[in-house]
Amino acid sequence: MQRTILDNIAAIATAPGRGGIGVVRISGHGLTALAQAITGKAPAPRHATYASFLDSTGLVLDQGIALFFPAPHSYTGEDVLELQGHGGPAVLQAVLQRCVELGARLARPGEFTERAFLNNKLDLAQAESVADLIDATTTQAARSAMRSLQGDFSRAIHALVDELIRLRMLVEAMLDFPEEDVDAPDLTRRNRELSSVRDGLERVLTLAQQGSLLREGAHIVLVGQPNVGKSSLLNRLSGEEVALVSDIPGTTRDVIRQAIQLEGVPLHILDTAGLRESQDIVEQMGIARTRSAAEIADLILVLLDATQGMTAADRDILAALPPQIPRLFVFNKCDLMGADGKQEDTDHLYLSAKTGTGLDELRQRLLTLIGWHQEAGVFMARERHLRALKLARRHLAQAASEVARAELFAEELRLAQEALNSITGEFTADDLLGEIFSRFCIGK
Ligand code: GDP
Ligand code: ZN
Repeated sequence: MQRTILDNIAAIATAPGRGGIGVVRISGHGLTALAQAITGKAPAPRHATYASFLDSTGLVLDQGIALFFPAPHSYTGEDVLELQGHGGPAVLQAVLQRCVELGARLARPGEFTERAFLNNKLDLAQAESVADLIDATTTQAARSAMRSLQGDFSRAIHALVDELIRLRMLVEAMLDFPEEDVDAPDLTRRNRELSSVRDGLERVLTLAQQGSLLREGAHIVLVGQPNVGKSSLLNRLSGEEVALVSDIPGTTRDVIRQAIQLEGVPLHILDTAGLRESQDIVEQMGIARTRSAAEIADLILVLLDATQGMTAADRDILAALPPQIPRLFVFNKCDLMGADGKQEDTDHLYLSAKTGTGLDELRQRLLTLIGWHQEAGVFMARERHLRALKLARRHLAQAASEVARAELFAEELRLAQEALNSITGEFTADDLLGEIFSRFCIGK
């Protein structure tokens, strides 16, 4: 997918605000001349050249390091010039402005990486992992993004595609013969090779699902009657005082969001005002928010008072919850009851937000319920990738029921391959590319 790109693009590549160092990055063609105009000298390729950055009159805007990467050995595959100066907004703007005077235009978000993709420096899955690496909020998420960037995910996809191509060749060679001529050994071979691809796809999908969890995290909503201990539990889980704890029922009127991480998986926890009918208009608003928060939850944590067990008010809350979302019942304040009567089960557990009893068990249950099982070698994946993998899975399942009909079989294989190819960006529609790269930050 080689294209001619003629214009030069420039952007401040470092984060906005003040910093020790700030970098203006330029990509394009014939950047030796641009470097010469700004620094007054021709920079040696891939060497740190100490230089003054000059305006059109020769006034020194800043002093720093010029790094020149001639095409094709650069991030974008084009000439790339990096001007590393002082990290102040005004000085960086001035240097950027100078680049614009010299013919560069301001880069769109992600445009450097888009060019790297268009020049075959990265495939699409790798390009996406660049953004995911930058956006990663946990070490594990960053590590899995790095794995994708290094090509682990793409290699796994390519291996599947290669297997598919071999199988297609086998079948398509038969297409000239009448269907009746397919003999038993042929069918056996088709079946065997198809199940091998399907198994491989399942393994990739599992790793990708775990990676997606690392990227997106899971939404957990805390519901329960006023005073049952929702805020206390949230504070326990997050290790800071975020939610207001009080003895007066109904203190938590707004929905409080808290992001925590367990084993590197980001969890977005929402503490709510409790789902119950209320005359108080402020509290009613909280309840409305609870309902809508619960709608998008991956898991609902239903908090109950262990000393009272499930009450009629609790049943009212349960009735108001969206039925399709998995829930875990947690009996809080177990420190107030005797040791007897605390039977753990798969759908409930006992806990004390006050003493911390049962918290570790709760953390483990949360991870299991959202589908995390610490797979080794997880790669960063996005919704888009999961959709493509599932589409490929459907076509392969369809293929399995058409093994004897060469033409239909081959067509399903072709569609599965097309779905897989969309992950790495072979034959990807331009509008999808635009959509993906527009979400990057400027300068990347
Ligand atoms: P919320 O209204 O559901 O958010 O409940 P809070 O977290 O504000 O707690 C209400 C009251 O119950 C406070 O006085 C807490 O200190 C108390 N509480 C919360 N959890 C426990 C617990 O596990 N044991 C005991 N004994 N008290 C608790
Ligand atoms: Zn509360």
